[in-house]
Amino acid sequence: MRYVFHVVLGLAASSMLCASAWAAPAEQSLSQRVVAYQIEARLDAGKKTLDATETLTYRNLTGRPLDTFPFHLYLNAFQPTSTFMREVRLYGTRGTGPEAGWDPKRFGSITVKSFKVAGGADLTGQMEFIQPDDHNPDDRTVFQVHLPKPVPPGGDVQFEISFHDQLPEVMERTGYKRDFFMVGQWFPKVGVWWHEAWNCHQFHATTEFFADFGTFDVKVTVPQNYVLGATGDQVASVSNPDGTKTVTYHAEDIHDFSWTADPHYRLIEDSWTGSAGTVKIHLLMSPENLKQAGRYLQSVKGTLDRFDRWYGPYPYDRITVVDPPHGAGAAGGMEYPTLITGGTTWWDPDGLRAAEDVTVHEFGHQYWYGMVATNEFEEAWLDEGINSYTEVKIMDSLYGKDRSLLALWGLTADDADLQRVSYISLPDTDPLTRYAYQFMSTAAYGGITYGKTATVLLTLDGIIGEETLQRALHTYFMRYRFTHPTGEDFLKTLEEVSGRDLRWYFNQAVYGTNILDYEILSLSSDRVDWYQKKLAPPKPGQTLYRDTVVVHRKGDFLFPVTVEIKFDNGEKIREHWDGRDRWVRYSYEKKTEVVSAEIDPDHQVWLDRDWFNNSRTAKPNSQASRKIDAYWMVVTQFLAQLAAWLV
Ligand SMILES: [Zn+2]
Repeated sequence: MRYVFHVVLGLAASSMLCASAWAAPAEQSLSQRVVAYQIEARLDAGKKTLDATETLTYRNLTGRPLDTFPFHLYLNAFQPTSTFMREVRLYGTRGTGPEAGWDPKRFGSITVKSFKVAGGADLTGQMEFIQPDDHNPDDRTVFQVHLPKPVPPGGDVQFEISFHDQLPEVMERTGYKRDFFMVGQWFPKVGVWWHEAWNCHQFHATTEFFADFGTFDVKVTVPQNYVLGATGDQVASVSNPDGTKTVTYHAEDIHDFSWTADPHYRLIEDSWTGSAGTVKIHLLMSPENLKQAGRYLQSVKGTLDRFDRWYGPYPYDRITVVDPPHGAGAAGGMEYPTLITGGTTWWDPDGLRAAEDVTVHEFGHQYWYGMVATNEFEEAWLDEGINSYTEVKIMDSLYGKDRSLLALWGLTADDADLQRVSYISLPDTDPLTRYAYQFMSTAAYGGITYGKTATVLLTLDGIIGEETLQRALHTYFMRYRFTHPTGEDFLKTLEEVSGRDLRWYFNQAVYGTNILDYEILSLSSDRVDWYQKKLAPPKPGQTLYRDTVVVHRKGDFLFPVTVEIKFDNGEKIREHWDGRDRWVRYSYEKKTEVVSAEIDPDHQVWLDRDWFNNSRTAKPNSQASRKIDAYWMVVTQFLAQLAAWLV
């Protein structure tokens, strides 16, 4: 997910689909298909409601009998007393929730009208809402049912569910705006049996999603004039006598399904061919932004290419890119399997690459959220954070290092700068590994999950090498795609591929909240003959000095430090310090004076919280360097503003 920069700047269908739940034997499929969803939904475009039936076939691969099943009901988050709203009020929102007074347009709900086991009991009356995370009795985003008879290991069970959705005016990436619909998190979704327990968290202000892989067969009925986009391949479209049409989609080896509808969309089709074949690109443009279509297409193709070459193949045959209309920016910057939403405006200047950045970011989620599919409730850094790092690499590759994000009005900035600025605003409130809904605030969640993780990995480039880190990400993706790995799986892969013990780094950067900050405390040149009664005037190259540089560790993060010391005869010395003590002094006797000292002269330690204290000159700053400082102040403030909009 990413927030878009410019914002501030009842069909009640009864028949079941007859398609077989598992189109291919599980051995041949990309994922272990635990679930098969068949959903038929009818949109009431006027009332902003959906009526639907869902058949969920669940395969019990847990190795034990299962008699309890929890389900997510995400749309119930959009109610005044939900846990989601409580957290928005307490900790802030990612930018689209109601912080001010309650507006009834924000109301959203999902009501399960009936819940049955196929060929068995009607369990509607036995559904109970549960609140495993915070015990808020008013939160209705998770329910569970107990089956009269357990599902044996290796067996399967079919649930028949009918439900009614009230969509909110678009917020948190779902809902409507006028006649635009972004329908996400809209159906009862079963939890994940993971690490010997059900994992089915409530919907929180900062959390995203976690679900099992499987197949989806979805029929959507909408007014005939609507243009649709969805996860999956369109396999049929029929016109109905009542002025509606029913469009059928099929998708495999994915863990969620969303769709969008708007009568004004302009569909632009393109394609890209990579190592796994041709990928159809469906771009749904809002007409007012049409002139930006090329920017979306160019960036999505560039991103497909880099991911394919660097991290692994894109195995699906399509990607849908949605450009939300004016006023529906809250639907922008979101990822679903094979469908992403972007965000732009008709006036977007070419030098501010917001449309490109959001496209690169959301497409990246196809890999880390879509296929690797880590637990976003508990380990959000593995998706948003790794994705923010790969976003930097791809933006640099597509648009040039140091200017990938901004090259406008004489200002340039890199996506890496944006990640770092986002991190340094709140660098030490929480470790990366904090559960997403337990961060100190929404701002802390954003700065750490996205910005700090990217900065930790950018700094790791300097430790193990950028090319090694790219190979490690390739190994991680190929080994763990479709398997729900953990943070330790990722960290062990980094150690294995680099052949290095990196625990000293992970303990501080990943599991710790340590601050990395080294400074040049002082530098001086003292004449060795200072005690002479009549001191001769200094002679270049002849007068002997005791040159001294003191480097200080300000933070509690221990990190090896390189210091470059320059002398006035042009000589340079590089010193390497293990950085463990509080300070170190370098002294030399030389016939030259020290001019300057700089920590991290190759600019590899992105985690260093303050770059301004990394260098010091013997004489006061020249006008030129003051100018550079002023320039960086402007760019940094600009990036801080962007970062504030980011999450
Ligand atoms: Zn994201």
